[in-house]
Amino acid sequence: MSNSIPYGRQNITEEDIEAVVSTLKSDYLTQGPKISEFEDAFAKYVGSKYAVAVANGTAALHLCALALGVKQGDKVITTPITFAASANCVRYCGGEVVFADIDPETYLLDINKVRTLLEASPQGTYKGIIPVDFAGRAVDLEAFKKLADQYDLWIIEDACHAPGGYFKDSRGQQQLCGNGIFAELAIFSFHPVKHIASGEGGMITTNDEDLYKKLLQLRTHGIVKSENLYKNSISFAGGEDNYPGWYMEMQDLGFNYRLTDFQAALGLSQLKRAEEGLERRREIAKHYYQAFEGKNFIKSQSGIVEGHAYHLYVIEVKDRLGLYNYLRENNIYAQIHYIPCHLMPYYREFGWKEGDMPFAEIYYQNCISLPMYPTLRVKEQNFVLDKIKSYYE
Ligand SMILES: *Cc1c(COP(=O)(O)O)cnc(C)c1O
Repeated sequence: MSNSIPYGRQNITEEDIEAVVSTLKSDYLTQGPKISEFEDAFAKYVGSKYAVAVANGTAALHLCALALGVKQGDKVITTPITFAASANCVRYCGGEVVFADIDPETYLLDINKVRTLLEASPQGTYKGIIPVDFAGRAVDLEAFKKLADQYDLWIIEDACHAPGGYFKDSRGQQQLCGNGIFAELAIFSFHPVKHIASGEGGMITTNDEDLYKKLLQLRTHGIVKSENLYKNSISFAGGEDNYPGWYMEMQDLGFNYRLTDFQAALGLSQLKRAEEGLERRREIAKHYYQAFEGKNFIKSQSGIVEGHAYHLYVIEVKDRLGLYNYLRENNIYAQIHYIPCHLMPYYREFGWKEGDMPFAEIYYQNCISLPMYPTLRVKEQNFVLDKIKSYYE
């Protein structure tokens, strides 16, 4: 048996290494030709018009909030069962995070809870919604968009867990996560535990040209280098008939959120295996599902859901702490996703407390994410299953 089995792990092949090395030998270390190649390939993969590569998923969320104009006091709704960054991007811009509970069946932000919040306040109280394709299960964004349009809200889809995932819309069409049809913006992460790894890295996808242009600008300090966009006059810039060659303008308060070219080369190389990896994840999920079906120690599990991208395979069990520790003793490093965000000390300062999100809190008492990554071998998965069964039997 292998030494240890984590819940997630990257897979770096010889082709990946070659792609990085050849980029290191090129003229570009940071943002170069691999960036747009990666962006184009990624946009094609998720079916969006535009993609913007950035330093990481958190930077992607921050830029989205900035591009949508989140400001002091703006209220934005998200789920407590997510990585903190989904909520934090609102705080970076001075906005207020409003959590709404999950649906205990899907573990996703419950649209009915969101509707109740919206109905209880005057129109204009909320600015946007950040639903999360948690564990890889695609949110029904068609339904969210209908609700958002009613209240004039934008949507940022946090699709970090779901590149290649999809839901079926009301006409039975597959709608890929991040395709930009039902959300203004979507974001992805290329952290090593995610489907596609570039070390650190992130991507924003959109179909909105104005947002796309704004994101490009904000990614690089808010600086513009295009004659037809300049606000200052030619004479100020130091030219008579033309802007001089050195000229550029900082028009907005942006950041340095660029991805390096060698990271883009790694991401691009990984993207080529994304579909294959997704297939393998779905096989692993099926194997877990069948092994747990009808078992009395299982309260609930991720299950077999069409379009699920299985970043995680979650089970809810009795005596979760005991199982977690027992698996660790056997070098199986399962993980808990997530400690509810509203109960983090930082968010408690805003008044959030136990009891506010009952379904998220019950879920947190029972949940555990099992090893799930394309290179997990059948033997290893069976070892995990044996250990879980032997713990309870
Ligand atoms: C990983 C992740 C992020 C943040 O991505 P980083 O690249 O680590 O900054 C945001 N949201 C979710 C749901 C994630 O899983």
